[in-house]
Amino acid sequence: MIIQKSTAPRISEFDPENFSFGNMFTDHMVICEYEDGKWGEVKLMPYGPLPFTPAMMGVNYGQACFEGMKAYKDKDSQVFIFRPEKNFSRINKSASRLAMPEIPAEVFLEGLKALVDLDRDWIPYGEGNSLYIRPLIFATEEALKARISNKYMFAIVATPAKSYYSAPVSVKISDYYSRAANGGVGFAKAAGNYAASFYPTQLANEEGYEQIIWTDDSTHEYFEESGTMNVFVRINDTIYTPPTSEKILDGVTRDSFIQLANKRGIELKVEPISVKSVIEAHKNGTLKEIWGVGTAVVTTVFKAIGYQGEKLELPQLPLEESFALTLQKDLVDLQTNVAEDPFGWRVLVEKSI
Ligand SMILES: *Cc1c(COP(=O)(O)O)cnc(C)c1O
Repeated sequence: MIIQKSTAPRISEFDPENFSFGNMFTDHMVICEYEDGKWGEVKLMPYGPLPFTPAMMGVNYGQACFEGMKAYKDKDSQVFIFRPEKNFSRINKSASRLAMPEIPAEVFLEGLKALVDLDRDWIPYGEGNSLYIRPLIFATEEALKARISNKYMFAIVATPAKSYYSAPVSVKISDYYSRAANGGVGFAKAAGNYAASFYPTQLANEEGYEQIIWTDDSTHEYFEESGTMNVFVRINDTIYTPPTSEKILDGVTRDSFIQLANKRGIELKVEPISVKSVIEAHKNGTLKEIWGVGTAVVTTVFKAIGYQGEKLELPQLPLEESFALTLQKDLVDLQTNVAEDPFGWRVLVEKSI
């Protein structure tokens, strides 16, 4: 690995008590380039812009995918990354689907650890605080023929992130737009999946909904995901979440919630959730909670669901009664080394640079 430390660090400008998410980046970034059929040496270098041409294939054809993960600091300033091998295997699944070269473990994991190690002072301590890490791969060849690129860049950037609290939202059950289709790229963290979701989400915003519950593209009768998160529904005391598929992204948070629910002995069924059964449960008063999960905010609780012009309000349960909030707390406590880690999910980042 080539390590080039910043000569003009901006860390003194960073106020961990007062910052907003996603627009201030740490002092360094990881870059690795792919050319002539192989990945080159990993570079840890000062964060900053890179030159590009509008003829770059990645921006023309969307051959690009990414990951989202976090690092945490505990009360003794030890730094941990959460289940990084899951993000590593997923970025390669995404890359393969988009005909991009897979990235070797040492490039991804060593680059990641080196960046988090060197920029550890950027990780805010405190409940819910973390460093959000964005690894990505994109096509860099300068060419306009529509074909697979021969050149790529792998990069990792990081930005401090604050408390998980996200206010309850109203969501619209989609009866027209789809996020994913059979045979498509829904399971991949393809950059274009997000681009395609913005317009339907904007329309839902105009109707007073913050997010969309994506349903299957052929019948719109089954829940798939919500916004950019996996979705959980609680009816009586049973939690339901749809099985992952080529249309449903295999979220790390989803998997962690399932294991944490099992550990608590909460009944959880991985099975298709029909819109009909949710509306029915709302009518007869057994629909207790619906929530989305993902790395960025961990949990977003829903306060209302919109379906065919009707807005159905959901009860808002306090922590002691809410499965969503209880499991969120279990997860955050584990991530931040407040609770034990029986699963071996926390990876300590030693100080070595
Ligand atoms: C990233 C993502 C998720 C959440 O995955 P996590 O690994 O839990 O962050 C869910 N759905 C989609 C479409 C995503 O892109």
